[in-house]
Amino acid sequence: MTTENPTVEENKRSLNFIEQIVENDLKEGRDNGRVQTRFPPEPNGYLHIGHAKAICIDFGIAEKYGGTCNLRFDDTNPVKEEVEYVDSIMEDIEWLGFHWDNVYYASDYFQQLWDFAEKLIKEGKAYVDEQSSEEIARQKGTPTLPGTDSPYRNRPVEESMELFHKMNSGEISEGQMVLRAKIDMASPNMHMRDPIIYRVIHMPHHRTGTKWKVYPMYDFAHGQCDYFEGVTHSLCTLEFEVHRPLYDWFIDQLADSDYRPRQTEFNRLNLTYTVMSKRRLLELVQDGLVTGWDDPRMPTLAGMRRRGYTPEAIRGFIDKIGYTKYDGMNDVSLLEFAVREDLNARVARVSGVIDPVKLILTNYPEGQVEEMEAINNPEDEGMGSRMVKFSRELWIERDDFMEDAPRKYFRLTPGNEVRLKNGYIVKCTGCKKDDEGNVVEVYAEYDPMTKSGMPEANRRVRGTIHWVSVPHSLDAEVRLYDRLFMVEDPLAEKDKEFKDLINPESLVVRKGCKVEEYLADVKPLENFQFQRIGYFNVDTDSTSGALVFNRTVALRDSWKGGSK
Ligand code: ATP
Ligand code: MG
Repeated sequence: MTTENPTVEENKRSLNFIEQIVENDLKEGRDNGRVQTRFPPEPNGYLHIGHAKAICIDFGIAEKYGGTCNLRFDDTNPVKEEVEYVDSIMEDIEWLGFHWDNVYYASDYFQQLWDFAEKLIKEGKAYVDEQSSEEIARQKGTPTLPGTDSPYRNRPVEESMELFHKMNSGEISEGQMVLRAKIDMASPNMHMRDPIIYRVIHMPHHRTGTKWKVYPMYDFAHGQCDYFEGVTHSLCTLEFEVHRPLYDWFIDQLADSDYRPRQTEFNRLNLTYTVMSKRRLLELVQDGLVTGWDDPRMPTLAGMRRRGYTPEAIRGFIDKIGYTKYDGMNDVSLLEFAVREDLNARVARVSGVIDPVKLILTNYPEGQVEEMEAINNPEDEGMGSRMVKFSRELWIERDDFMEDAPRKYFRLTPGNEVRLKNGYIVKCTGCKKDDEGNVVEVYAEYDPMTKSGMPEANRRVRGTIHWVSVPHSLDAEVRLYDRLFMVEDPLAEKDKEFKDLINPESLVVRKGCKVEEYLADVKPLENFQFQRIGYFNVDTDSTSGALVFNRTVALRDSWKGGSK
């Protein structure tokens, strides 16, 4: 969109197939040039990144073509739906950076849907079936074998009407009767074989209370809601392709003008090493396998936000994978790459030591403190620099020292020189160990002529390590997150429950980490790069007295698969 004067051809090529359909419709003057979409979540769980893909196209199309996108809660099943989910869905859409024009609920249309069902009954296009769901399923036939008519299929209109009213008055118990559309029991499309359109549910609804005892099925509600609202482009995922003839059939019975909402399907987002279904994610929450819907390992938008993923990174990833007509798996490392790319450009580099051991510069004056300049972000000069305190005792990573190091080890080992980031070059002289042989202190001598700007500052040394001055450090808890599952597709494993495939190292908690003073006043969800380690953000559990950081993503992709 930012290209200058793209030729028509260039413009065409960069459009995805949905945009092409919309542009074609506009060219042909369909719906008087009106574009209206909707995002229709069922409030039965938190949104996951798959929903973000639908959100980006639903809201994106409306934005791009000056149209309208409404948020519509598909609240047709009171058994699974809750207000908590409604609230979280709105929060997540806004966080992603989208704005709806109106909020609607499928339950707003219960009366209209009821009236439409009555119309179908009157026209002999719907009937009440008193068989059990097992019996109805048995009569469905197979894709190659026609179904069998229900014995109630041709019952008188008045009888169906009376029973339909009884279904809604509470006289009929759940499962005792259903309303079915009378279409074609021999259709090659199984969805057209007299689909169930209403069932009895005696549970109160979170918006309509006990007013209704019958609830419309998804197929009966969705298209009609689109129609009532004036949706022009009803975008959904590929599994609904086979439902489209039914969607169109209902609209044909309902419409009294040329206007028709039209359904277009695109491929789902499926990510490796996770599961992408609210039902499955709910199981993880209910079984306590994660700490909640916003556990930073969850593929939910709430989890990703808490983990430090940015809306820009998620949108960039979705843009990269695009919209097609073919289902497949998307590699989570592509998402992680997008997260790194985004954070790299805009977050401050700071020092954090995850597994600290003390380094003592034995020739550095006791009590002396210097201030070293640290560039906040080499990718963005505008972010400036800050002063970091340096002293005789520094925290360094335990694995930046080795007593007996192999030849290619360029960090601290006796006799070797390394650069302390933004500080001096130091030469390692040895260490002190406890009775069990654990290193408790590392010793080195600094070269006073090697501070930045000094004559020897550019002397060539192979290794650079980060540090935090001991008297100027803060304690922190660091939560190291990794992929939630050990295998690419946890649902595809034979003889294994997906819940048994959780990566035991998906969360490793490290206490007693050391971070620089600069981080004293951080706010929840702020992002940083802990230099040399990865991107981290401030967890929502963090307080000024007890800092908690999450590893958003490591600096490099180091996934080796499962537990070691
Ligand atoms: P789940 O199985 O996770 O509950 P759903 O399809 O039942 O997903 P809805 O709340 O009914 O969830 O979906 C709202 C919209 O989001 C629908 O248009 C649906 O097609 C879309 N959607 C759901 N999952 C994905 C996905 N993985 N990729 C792209 N779009 C998705
Ligand atoms: Mg659903």
